[in-house]
Amino acid sequence: MSLFGKSSRGNKRFGMDDDFEAKMRLLEARSEEQDYEKLKLKVDRLTLLCQALWHFVRQHQELSEEELTAYIEELKKKDEKTENCSQCGRVMNKNQHRCLYCGSQAQTDSYFDTL
Ligand SMILES: [Zn+2]
Repeated sequence: MSLFGKSSRGNKRFGMDDDFEAKMRLLEARSEEQDYEKLKLKVDRLTLLCQALWHFVRQHQELSEEELTAYIEELKKKDEKTENCSQCGRVMNKNQHRCLYCGSQAQTDSYFDTL
């Protein structure tokens, strides 16, 4: 998201000169770059956490890499499958928790489905 919103392009009418607008764009770019770096750091930390959790779960539950891979493939197939609304029958948007047509709450199997 832009630091100054989408309206910054139309600021000339408020008396802002080209130099000022260039500085504002540079600040926006730096802010977006910082957001990207923060997200990258979070993903790296979550990856490390997942690896550590998998290490302990595998040890204590005597699971194999093949079982993990098979379950990941099962989750991928589930994610690719389209779901229909239980109320109106129309195709649900996977990124929405409610039906776009009737507002019915999407059915979920797991809390992870609500994220
Ligand atoms: Zn619906």
